[in-house]
Amino acid sequence: MTAVFRRLILLAAGNRFVSGFVRRYGMRLGASRFISGETLDAAVPAIRRLNDAGLKANTTLLGEGLHDTAAVQRVADAYAGILDRIAAERLTCNVALKLTHLGLNLGEDVAYGHLARLLRHAATHGNCIRIDMEESARVNATLRIYRRARADGFDNVGTVLQSYLYRAGDDLTALLPLAPNLRLVKGAYLEPPEIAYPKKADVDRNYVTLAERMLQSCGYSAIATHDERIIEHVIAFANTKGIGNDRFEFQMLYGIRPQLQLDLVRHGYRVLVAAPFGPEWYPFFMRRLAERPANVLFVLRNLVRG
Ligand SMILES: Cc1cc2nc3c(=O)[nH]c(=O)nc-3n(C[C@H](O)[C@H](O)[C@H](O)COP(=O)(O)OP(=O)(O)OC[C@H]3O[C@@H](n4cnc5c(N)ncnc54)[C@H](O)[C@@H]3O)c2cc1C
Repeated sequence: MTAVFRRLILLAAGNRFVSGFVRRYGMRLGASRFISGETLDAAVPAIRRLNDAGLKANTTLLGEGLHDTAAVQRVADAYAGILDRIAAERLTCNVALKLTHLGLNLGEDVAYGHLARLLRHAATHGNCIRIDMEESARVNATLRIYRRARADGFDNVGTVLQSYLYRAGDDLTALLPLAPNLRLVKGAYLEPPEIAYPKKADVDRNYVTLAERMLQSCGYSAIATHDERIIEHVIAFANTKGIGNDRFEFQMLYGIRPQLQLDLVRHGYRVLVAAPFGPEWYPFFMRRLAERPANVLFVLRNLVRG
């Protein structure tokens, strides 16, 4: 049932009418709950509040799928400015970005050129960048670019594996010699059963298998989930295997399970909250709706209330 719902929302996200309507009214109807602001000026105090509560953060200028050279350049320049601002504000915050926002549609060399410049810039501030994982069609290019960055000597870069993909276990095996910094997620895109587990139970099971492997062999692991059962399992597993709290962190999204985030910090765990910002929030918001039927009810209730 959840899988069908998820599919329907992700399919609807591509519809012109749905897109027009949600883009127009979405911020008032609930999108504002999931983003730290429409501007960097608005995001900074939100990130500071997270830091003040003991939470680490990352931020993302929302957007993806660019095809225009000038627009990509503007995004790359904006990210350089974001890194400067994080440093100037002394925030505990790194950056997560999507390669299709940084020119992947114009070629791997274009995206890599911008990424390498930003990694150098981040390093001058002692900061790091994580490359988000997008649709399955982007996985090979994303992992190639991650490897290229590592081969060029950047160690302030991480990327992401998605447990819904059958290939994730093999990708992990191939990356392990690099002692990578990896974030593990379940996966947020619409993928066919030929390449991704259609059943949530299988996605969850694979998540646990991958998390256990990562905890034992990655340089650093980011366990990105709001799934309490999995979080409890990870804590118990780390305790049993003697894996210190400094070898991994939990990651959650801004506006989702805030009390759980604080409870984990209180118990001595590192928690990072992904706090994206920007006016291009539509695809991000639709993925959040697809994750949870209750979010759509929330939007509909706001719609009825006007
Ligand atoms: C820090 C972070 C970074 C991510 N980066 C990527 C990425 O690079 N690529 C990618 O494909 N995906 C990414 N995701 C999204 C991820 O793939 C999942 O779609 C998302 O995390 C929901 O799955 P879950 O693990 O929380 O488990 P689920 O089983 O979906 O949810 C478990 C519980 O968490 C709560 N919950 C989950 N989602 C929501 C929501 N939207 N609203 C309210 N409550 C919710 C509910 O209580 C739910 O019962 C990221 C997620 C996080 C937390």
